[in-house]
Amino acid sequence: MPELPEVETVRRQLEPEVVGATITSLTVSDPRWSTPLAPEELGDVVVGRRVLALRRRGKYLDWVLEGEVHLLMHLRMTGTLLLDPGEDYAHTRVELTLDESRRLLFVDPRRFGTGQLVVGDRELDSFYATRLGVEPFDESFTPALLRALARGRRGPIKSFLLDQRQIAGIGNIYADEALFRTGVHPLRPAGALRPTDYARLRDAIREVLSAGIDAQGASIDDFRHLDGARGSFQDRFLVHRREGEPCVVCGTTIRKLVVGGRGTYVCERCQPAPRRRRSVAA
Ligand SMILES: [Zn+2]
Repeated sequence: MPELPEVETVRRQLEPEVVGATITSLTVSDPRWSTPLAPEELGDVVVGRRVLALRRRGKYLDWVLEGEVHLLMHLRMTGTLLLDPGEDYAHTRVELTLDESRRLLFVDPRRFGTGQLVVGDRELDSFYATRLGVEPFDESFTPALLRALARGRRGPIKSFLLDQRQIAGIGNIYADEALFRTGVHPLRPAGALRPTDYARLRDAIREVLSAGIDAQGASIDDFRHLDGARGSFQDRFLVHRREGEPCVVCGTTIRKLVVGGRGTYVCERCQPAPRRRRSVAA
């Protein structure tokens, strides 16, 4: 599933191609994509508008159009954007034309991707406020903030990291990689880390997301660049999807657990499991 680095990769590739262009047609062949708007309702608003900017917030791609119109695309599990493809693709749910000459396809076999319309910059702030927490590269994302967000939370730190309302943009890959680099077991209660762990975790989150962006994302399933090419961060995973392989630090065999329903990879020597609660305090 595309996470912050994958969406940022697409944004950086797409930005120079689309900013300044006008959306000249929008064909939504799967009405689920634009729900609650019907495809024609969405088209009525966006067609004819110029693209002023292409932004990212969390895993959302924000097409900033004239008149404070925002078309928010979310790739969810299997969404891919392809620009000027030489052929047609199965599972194309949306086709957008820019300046009557360039084609952009939203291809999405599992059909969870979305295109939502938000009109008004203030409305955009409200839209994000109920869905997304702090942006990992924002200067407000300090170790103290991370610790404050986690305070009192007994659920696993891994699940906390995946909660978009806490920190925006982290998914299964980057959560595993950040926890490994921090030496924190994914099942540790989020609110019970040592103060120094929050500082190291904050740094590790930024480090793995930056590395993911530098590698132009990870292509473990459907994620592709605008031209169909694959990212390369999957070749640099230290724990994710490495079950049965030796830990790069200590040689211990990487294990796969399930945390909050998600496959989770851990070196239980580098990331000691939380101690079981004792019924009698020592
Ligand atoms: Zn290890």
